[in-house]
Amino acid sequence: MKILLANPETSRSKYDFAGIIDDEPYDLECLMAYLKIKGYEVRLWDGQIDKDFARTVKLFEPDFVYFCGRTRQENFIKEYCAYCKDYSENKGSGLLKNLLSNSPSLKSRLFSGNKKPITTIVGGIHASLNPERFFEDDVDYVVTTYDPSVVAAIIEGKNPENLKGICYRADISDNSDPDKNDDIDLKSKNWKKNPPAPFDIRKMPWADRSNFYENREKYCYLELRPCAIIRTAYCCPYSCAFCYRNRLNCGKYVSRDIVDVVDEIESIECENIYIIDDDFLVGTQRLHKFVELIKERNIKKNFVAFGRADFIVKHPEVIKELSEIGFYYILTGLEYIENKRLSDTNKRSGVNTNGNAIRILHENGIHMMAMFITDLDFKKKDFKNLYRWIKHFKLKHVAVSIYTPEMCLENFSEYKDRLVTEDPADWDYLHVVAQPTNISVKKYYYYYHILLIKLFLRAKRQGIYDFMDYKMFIKSFIKNLFKFGG
Ligand code: SF4
Repeated sequence: MKILLANPETSRSKYDFAGIIDDEPYDLECLMAYLKIKGYEVRLWDGQIDKDFARTVKLFEPDFVYFCGRTRQENFIKEYCAYCKDYSENKGSGLLKNLLSNSPSLKSRLFSGNKKPITTIVGGIHASLNPERFFEDDVDYVVTTYDPSVVAAIIEGKNPENLKGICYRADISDNSDPDKNDDIDLKSKNWKKNPPAPFDIRKMPWADRSNFYENREKYCYLELRPCAIIRTAYCCPYSCAFCYRNRLNCGKYVSRDIVDVVDEIESIECENIYIIDDDFLVGTQRLHKFVELIKERNIKKNFVAFGRADFIVKHPEVIKELSEIGFYYILTGLEYIENKRLSDTNKRSGVNTNGNAIRILHENGIHMMAMFITDLDFKKKDFKNLYRWIKHFKLKHVAVSIYTPEMCLENFSEYKDRLVTEDPADWDYLHVVAQPTNISVKKYYYYYHILLIKLFLRAKRQGIYDFMDYKMFIKSFIKNLFKFGG
């Protein structure tokens, strides 16, 4: 059995931050490790670094293709699923397809006809939370769990009825008892959903980094290049209203043994490590142990990790220790510069806390990558105030997302009538997807891009992004000032 694990590209425009933040496809690499242990021939295709999916399929001739991605990759996943089905049927498209359809004898001579069609499986964050979006003919299974044994069970041909965390096509007419049909999605009557169970991350093998080592120069986090990825926990123990990360793994936070984490970090041949837990700063004892082990083993690396402002303020001693072992960036969702917005979204932090967190990180020589949200009720003055606040607190690294209602959250229905786009590619936090309340979409984009240009020019003056093509981005921002809303 040959299995291709695929991470489609995030965008086909230049405006995609490619070459600036390119993540190693870590979750696929863990699945790859698991499937290889099971004895399968596995290959990984990463659309961030290789644009030719079709070529990979032709060369590798997989029996199964497993796709993983976020909302903005949905269209590409579907396109590639369709390609797989088309390829199975016709061994490719275009000239060859026409030739073969006109000549059944040639087709039968070239392909003996006993080749099984490619089975397509869609998993990953977006599919696990919004499986119905993939209930389509070209998709065979949707996996809604982190448990890699479910993918292995599909490959082994096990009965899907007995698998947790899988959606599959079932013949509705087989179900004689209508009361049993509750779990059948009404819009897509032939799909059946088996609910997932939380997965214990400690059962996941270490990532197979063969793809990373082959392409290491391509994976980066800003100036940290190459940069490898590791995960130490699933889910997030907090419940900010705008965020879906606390829904992952059935909402169950589960973390790896910290000794195992440090063992894996020690084994990675890369001096930069990005810990992609939704929140790494959880549990002071665990963090003390982490620092102790890194020091004891004399591991010299730069670290990037997510951490909350309230933790930073409550535990400055932990921050000091983390700075001593090489913490370089801490990515912190400051979100808003007003207490009301912070409390309304259950952020469990305040503006003073945010300010103190910036100060503590700066005092310890750690860069804060501060993340903000521009709400849909923003007016011109809100964009201006945000820039002033960032300047006042001398923040250098800033990411500003446009508020994007998440498809899997309960409050999504409140936005349904206000959506200005239904294209999942726009769920990249750079697009206005729902009608703003106080200004037009056009004005919203205008003020948003003015803010981005101001932040970008400030970053240029400070020289923090000298590794990237400033001109291309400034040109894009200026173009988008007028393009999106016009
Ligand atoms: S915003 Fe951050 S802290 Fe809040 S739920 Fe999401 S990942 Fe957790």
